[in-house]
Amino acid sequence: MQRHLNIFILIMIIASTIIIPVQINAQQQPDLDVHFIDVGQGDSMLIQTPSGKNVLVDGGRPKAGKKVVKFLKKQNVGKIDLMIATHPDIDHIGGLIQVMKAFEVKRILDTGKMNSTRTYARYVSQIIKQQIPIDIARQNDLIKLDPKLKVRILNTNKGSKSTNKSSIVMKVTFKELDFLLMSDVAKEQEKKLLKKYELDAEILKVAHHGSHTSTSLEFLQEVDPKAAILTYGKNNDFGHPVDRVMENLRKVDTAIYPTATFGNITVRTNGKGYVILNEKSPTSSLKAG
Ligand SMILES: [Zn+2]
Repeated sequence: MQRHLNIFILIMIIASTIIIPVQINAQQQPDLDVHFIDVGQGDSMLIQTPSGKNVLVDGGRPKAGKKVVKFLKKQNVGKIDLMIATHPDIDHIGGLIQVMKAFEVKRILDTGKMNSTRTYARYVSQIIKQQIPIDIARQNDLIKLDPKLKVRILNTNKGSKSTNKSSIVMKVTFKELDFLLMSDVAKEQEKKLLKKYELDAEILKVAHHGSHTSTSLEFLQEVDPKAAILTYGKNNDFGHPVDRVMENLRKVDTAIYPTATFGNITVRTNGKGYVILNEKSPTSSLKAG
């Protein structure tokens, strides 16, 4: 009998040690995931908010659409609560057409800036076909989608001739952590933003794929990012990223994460700390050539 009792106590101890970590997990705050999808040359980001909303920012080139759809399905995205087209260039809106065909999109946020390309015409006709409600972004707007998250529009279209300069720039704040998503704006916009806003952010999506048009040292010193995400395709025709941008990033002592090297990159945060999860390690991509 004594032996049976001992075994019973032992089982209870084991059971309690198994149960306790599960209880701790259940009490944890939900996380924010910001995924930088490797779409080659272009931008595509998925923001999964603490309350379970899905925000897709850009969709890469038309060819990348399939990959974005696959990625969203892998992340268990059922519907897209908000789709943001930061500006009407092919490497940002191209893949969104496939996404609209594959998922229910509740609303779209657009710059209102038009483009005379076939891709832009296809993007607009798909929105009309599916009758998706569309809002035009205004500077200073707060996107109210998740009460736990602050998303502010810092730049958008103000009649600029250039599609890049009309890009939607956003600051996403979750408790103590800030993401600054620069889309494809140029130094001229960076300068204006410096005067107007507090730009400090732990995570920076570097503007315009690391092009010479953007990312001045003065701007980087103000943002002071801990990690910088660069979105470009391997051996792209534009020479992205340029040496000056890489040097500037090193000068401010930032960890650099290019999608061309790391594949899909996920930044997961509880609003205080964060972890960066990447699909490929730099050594495995070197081995792959
Ligand atoms: Zn671009």
